[in-house]
Amino acid sequence: MSDQSLNKDRGARHLSLPQIGEKGQKLISNSTVLIIGMGGLGCASASYLNSSGIKKIIICDFDSVDATNLGRQILFGPSDIGKLKALAAKDHLEKINPEIDIQAITKKINGQELITTDFERSTIILDCSDNFNTRFEVNEYCVKNNHYLVSGSAIRFEGQYAVFGNDYKTSSCYECLYDQQDESFEDCQGNGVLGPIPGMIGAMMAIETIKIICNIDTQKGQLNIYEGLSNEWHQINVKKRNNCSICN
Ligand SMILES: [Zn+2]
Repeated sequence: MSDQSLNKDRGARHLSLPQIGEKGQKLISNSTVLIIGMGGLGCASASYLNSSGIKKIIICDFDSVDATNLGRQILFGPSDIGKLKALAAKDHLEKINPEIDIQAITKKINGQELITTDFERSTIILDCSDNFNTRFEVNEYCVKNNHYLVSGSAIRFEGQYAVFGNDYKTSSCYECLYDQQDESFEDCQGNGVLGPIPGMIGAMMAIETIKIICNIDTQKGQLNIYEGLSNEWHQINVKKRNNCSICN
């Protein structure tokens, strides 16, 4: 089968969706995303975006695969243990979709490095990291450079995701949710999490990313929280905080 025919068939079920169609699939095939963190959230969102036929995925993760990752980081298997996650993920994703352009960044990226990295203006940023420092830095970068931010996290039986941007003059940012002085943050790092929770949230992040790309309405500034034990969703509207030091 030719590459052209394969790509057409890959997008076939999108073509029959009126909200996407040929126009939307073309937008998808011209889009670039940056995924920060290749843990459970990153593996799931990268897998779906890769298979959707997106043009380019930039993967950013400085960590290596270890055995404790295998229960939820579904791109990796035993033969990946010890390999850099960004490179192992690139390998697996390219096998599934050889047409995609995947760039792996294997260093820890901070706000300063984001500023000096030359991303296309339209790049959508998925924050799949596992710590608040990175999340605040990524948010600041997105606000200053008008990037859409699709943010997700997972812990225990709970997961959450939200879309911010890209009109930060009028809408809230990730930092509006929190006050950086708050000491009560709980990182997912080192805490327990049910394996499929980051998978589900990562898939939701891929859905929201495709909606942004195809100009389908998204509920921006809405935090969507899933409680796995009671199987309940609830939403919080993140209001723009007047004293937010990032988006004001
Ligand atoms: Zn803000």
